[in-house]
Order: sequence, then C-alpha cells, then structure tokens
Amino acid sequence: METCDVLVVGGGPGGSSVAWALRDAGLDVVAMDRCAFPRDKICAGWITPQILEELAVDPEFYAKGRVLQPIHGFRVRRIGDREARTHAKRTDEPDEPISYGIRRCEFDHFLLERSEARLRLGEPLRSLERRGGCWRVNGALETPVVVGAGGHFCPVARRLGAGGGDPEPIIAAQELEFELPAAERAACPIEPEAPEIFFTADLKGYGWVFRKGSYLNVGLGRQDRGQLSGHVERFLAFLRDEGRLPGGLPRRPRGHAYLLYGEAPRRWVDDGVLLVGDAAGLAYPRSGEGIRPAVESGLLAARQLASAPAFDAAALAPYAEALEARFGAREKRLRVGLTDLLPDALVQRLAGRLFASPWFARHVVVDRWFVHAHEPALAT
Ligand SMILES: Cc1cc2nc3c(=O)[nH]c(=O)nc-3n(C[C@H](O)[C@H](O)[C@H](O)COP(=O)(O)OP(=O)(O)OC[C@H]3O[C@@H](n4cnc5c(N)ncnc54)[C@H](O)[C@@H]3O)c2cc1C
Repeated sequence: METCDVLVVGGGPGGSSVAWALRDAGLDVVAMDRCAFPRDKICAGWITPQILEELAVDPEFYAKGRVLQPIHGFRVRRIGDREARTHAKRTDEPDEPISYGIRRCEFDHFLLERSEARLRLGEPLRSLERRGGCWRVNGALETPVVVGAGGHFCPVARRLGAGGGDPEPIIAAQELEFELPAAERAACPIEPEAPEIFFTADLKGYGWVFRKGSYLNVGLGRQDRGQLSGHVERFLAFLRDEGRLPGGLPRRPRGHAYLLYGEAPRRWVDDGVLLVGDAAGLAYPRSGEGIRPAVESGLLAARQLASAPAFDAAALAPYAEALEARFGAREKRLRVGLTDLLPDALVQRLAGRLFASPWFARHVVVDRWFVHAHEPALAT
C-alpha cells in the first residue's frame, strides 16, 4: 500500500497552491487529478498580480513560451448604455499591469509541475474510506489528510455533505476561447490591454470579450442559471452586431457552475480533511473570480497543515477561522441587496448612470469588484 502525508484531490490553482506551499515543510504530498495535464478549464483567465506575488511567480519567467497578457484598464458598460473606459495608469506610480490574462491549460500545468508534489494524473478519486484515523484512497493509497481541491463538484466536498441538502445557489457561466486566424487578428477591434465587460440589463450577470495574445475569450455568467444558453446566444449576437466578434465561431461555448462566497456555507473542515477553492465555495461574490480565492485558501490550508499538532477536526478548525478572517464572516453577509429594496425603474435609471460613470467603473467595478486593489497579497 502506497502512503503519503497529504493527498490533494484536484490539480487546479487551489490544489497546486497547497502542494507548492507544503514543499518546504518536509511533508510528502501527492496530487491526484482525474485529468491528464495540460488540461483545459472553462474560464476567462484573468488573474490579479497579487496571485503571482503570493505564488512567487516571476512574470518575465512565466511569459517565456506562455501567454501572459498585461491588462492596463477595462472597458465597462451595461448593455444598452454608454461605455466607461477605465485606465489604471497613475502619474505618481509606475504603469504596472492591474491584471493579467492567462490560458488555464498553461497556467494550471505550470503551477502543478512546479509544486514538486508526486503526481497521479488521469486518476479520479473513486473511493475514500476512513480506517483507524487514516484515509484509504482508491484502495491503493493511505494518508492521514485529504485536501478537497476538486472544484465545485469535488467528491471530497460531497463527502462533507456538499450538495446533499437544498439546491445550492450556484452561478453558471459559459465561455469560448479560440485562436484568431492571422487575418482576423489584424482586424480584431478588441484591445489586448483592455478587456471589455458588459453587465446585463437586469444586472444579474455580465459578459466579457477579452483578447490575450492571439487568443480571444468570450463568455457570460449569470446568477440565475435558467436559460443561460439563450442569454449567451443573445450576447454573442449583440457583440457581432457591434462588430466586436468575427462572424463564425469555431465551436459552441461550454459552461460550468460554481458557488460565490457566502451563498451556501459548505463545511470546510472535518477529521483529516479540509476544502480549498471552488470545493469550499470561495469565489468573489461580485466578479465571480475564483482563482485568487483558490490560491489563497490553498496557501492558508498549507500553513495550517504544516503547523497542526494533529489532523482531527478540532486541530484543523483554525483553517476555517483563517478563511473567514481573509474573506469575511459568511454568516453575516447581507442577503438583501439594494436592488431588492428599490423599485425596478429606479434601479434601472441608477444603474444606467452608475455604469456609464468613469469614476464608478474604475473605482468600484474595476478596482474593488474585479482587481481587488484594496486587498494586498496574502502575507507569506
Ligand atoms: C466561464 C467561467 C469563467 C471564469 N473566469 C474566471 C476568471 O477570469 N478569473 C478567475 O479568477 N476565476 C474565473 N472563474 C472561476 C475559476 O475558474 C474557478 O474559481 C477556479 O478554477 C477554482 O480553482 P480550483 O482549484 O478550486 O478548482 P478547479 O480549477 O476547478 O480545479 C479542480 C480540479 O479538480 C479535478 N477533479 C475534479 N473532480 C475530480 C475527481 N473526482 N478526482 C480527481 N480530480 C478531480 C479537476 O479535473 C480539476 O483539475 C471562471 C469560471 C467560469 C465557469
């Protein structure tokens, strides 16, 4: 029977961050993923510079042979309204990118390989049995701790009860990423340094069109999952009418669902187990971005595992406290938004004005909701 000190189930940014941060702790870590890497992941692929800082990734090194698209501003609008263009360029600061575009097939593969974990790729978690304070995994591996990093449908999270009660209030999103042929690249009006964000008229979601190197990523996410494909089709038609998309797309968009932080409190910790990233339901509520919460929860989990005197639920409980200290108390999140309290017509008028305001677009939408400029990188 093979053994290890920590088994990480899922090799996305959450799982690879746990493994990478544990490499100096003298623990023998195995990372298991049902996919062989490099694998694709449905995602727009924008990340904030804080992620690279937290993971000590040198942008220059990473960009060698991989896509790392610097982003210096966004173009924001609500569909049907005027656009507000934001630029992060400040005269008193060097013009550092406020965000980057990556391709998940490259980014996740790079992070997983760099983690130095022993890899079991192309192997799904099939069975997880508790035997005498240890886990027996797939009948072939024994470990005292399992980290559930398998995304929204993580089997370890399900073992902790996720998805077993009332339906979880997921968000659903679809995207399509493809390489632009050289002729279309030259004619493409999307500026690589300024992704375009389009909030839907009812404010229940947003679409984007985003160019990274020679690749174009287009997609839309909504809080109500019903009719998502119809919303996406209409959004693509709108972009074509505006001349922002080439006529023919190489394939249909693909979708995925996940949880926003605080919407459905999952159990994060139990005896010999903890959850990170989408498995824990940590994506930012405003933007739906989940890569940074996955990375940060991975780093916090590793910190806890490296210092825990034992791996029972009580000994791992400080990890849950660390998550709440970082992302906010989940029980106390205001469930009723302003849009629920005000008459619809007033909300529509206010929203039209706000999203067309360069100040709001830059300081609220971009800096706070998307870039999280107010939240420095997690201290290491
Ligand atoms: C359309 C769309 C666009 C998005 N755009 C962005 C964005 O631009 N920026 C951003 O920050 N976030 C974005 N997100 C969210 C982001 O993709 C996720 O929050 C992020 O990938 C979570 O990372 P993770 O490591 O927790 O899980 P994942 O990246 O989902 O990784 C989970 C891994 O677990 C593996 N796995 C699953 N089941 C098993 C099993 N049974 N056994 C073994 N392995 C298993 C999977 O193969 C996968 O490799 C987007 C999401 C969607 C749907």
